Amino acid sequence: MNRSGLSRFSRFRGRRARFEHDRSDRAAQDERLRVLCRTAKQAGIGTTRALAERLSREGVDLDIPRLAGLKAALDGEARPLKPDVFEAAGAEIPADALRLMERALDGQLAIAGFGGFSGRIANLFDYARENRAGTVASYIPELARQDPDRFGLAVCSLDGQRLALGNAEQAFCLQSVVKPLNYALALALNGENQVHRHVGREPSGRRFNELALDPDNRPHNPMINSGAIMCTAMIRPSRSVTDRQELVQRFVASAAGGAACGFDEAVYRSERQTAARNLSLVKLMDEHDAFPEGADTDAALDLYFRTCSLTLDCQGLSVAAAMLANGGVCPLTGHRVIDPRIGRNTLSLMLTCGMYDYSGEYAFSVGLPAKSGVSGGLMIVIPGIAGIALFSPRLDRQGNCVRGIEFSRRLIEDYPFHIFAGVATD
Ligand code: GLU
Repeated sequence: MNRSGLSRFSRFRGRRARFEHDRSDRAAQDERLRVLCRTAKQAGIGTTRALAERLSREGVDLDIPRLAGLKAALDGEARPLKPDVFEAAGAEIPADALRLMERALDGQLAIAGFGGFSGRIANLFDYARENRAGTVASYIPELARQDPDRFGLAVCSLDGQRLALGNAEQAFCLQSVVKPLNYALALALNGENQVHRHVGREPSGRRFNELALDPDNRPHNPMINSGAIMCTAMIRPSRSVTDRQELVQRFVASAAGGAACGFDEAVYRSERQTAARNLSLVKLMDEHDAFPEGADTDAALDLYFRTCSLTLDCQGLSVAAAMLANGGVCPLTGHRVIDPRIGRNTLSLMLTCGMYDYSGEYAFSVGLPAKSGVSGGLMIVIPGIAGIALFSPRLDRQGNCVRGIEFSRRLIEDYPFHIFAGVATD
């Protein structure tokens, strides 16, 4: 990418979460609507329909809840674009939607030049699809039944620009991709000090299910099995396991902007039947008094299996990744899902521990917080810009999806998304 392209993206780096606390006053907003209509006209956009088309060319999904008022105003027959079309439609145009239109007209959306970007992503997707290396995970028998050639990808930007390719709308079970979300929920419920009294934040340097604890007898981090079981132990321990599962499910759905978060009963049963290693991890942690006082370790393990068996499609997962990219605010609904500090902690651990024994290499060469899982899912966070989700069950020897790694490496060759790309420009 040339330098102007580079600076176009770099500008968004470090941006704060958007569209919170939108309370600009009415008169100022009316004036901005007038300016917007004038600017649109100068750009040859004279009708409501032309504006809706322009937004959708920029990838903006007008069907997202956050833009419901705007969609109502632009829907229907083409009408001359004047400030009163927004009022006549009875639609409330929040300052957020107004800013989004301004940015769209100015070529300043989170992903500028969405047409070109989508074309490039589609090419990278096709390259990755050609890669038939890797095998489907078999140690959980139900996962071995997955179609190795299924492949989906979805992107969601902070401005609600969306792209879906291949099997992006087919749900899959999250497996370890749920770990960052369980960790974020455990932090929200217990606070950072309590959570990290029981789980570290250091890469383990070992397999994700290794029987090992850190020097303080805690699991090394929440992204490996032992640490993830510890996090589930801290999710509303006084409630029944099914209530706790439902809570996680609601949390995941809200991170994913209301996407359907299902439960794969067959995977759950399959996992319970092949639980020897995870049971050993629980025993090891129990033996070293790693759990919070009074924890029901069987229930913690059960909840862990249940959360690994939750399902989402790539579309929903890309929104959850974009929520993390946006400091904890979901870009589809505009709702705050987690505090910024929890978002930051989660991203730090995804960056250092999210990709199994390839985490260091991924941080080095791709430079983005990400989390993969043995079913073949991968979520990638581009802070301040977008979230990406992929699904392909062909895994490499570290347990990461082969096509996801290939896609990530090529993405970074084409776009300055590496979190340290900014320091390498002159
Ligand atoms: N449920 C799987 C296990 O406990 C998760 C593995 C993974 O996706 O890393 O082994």
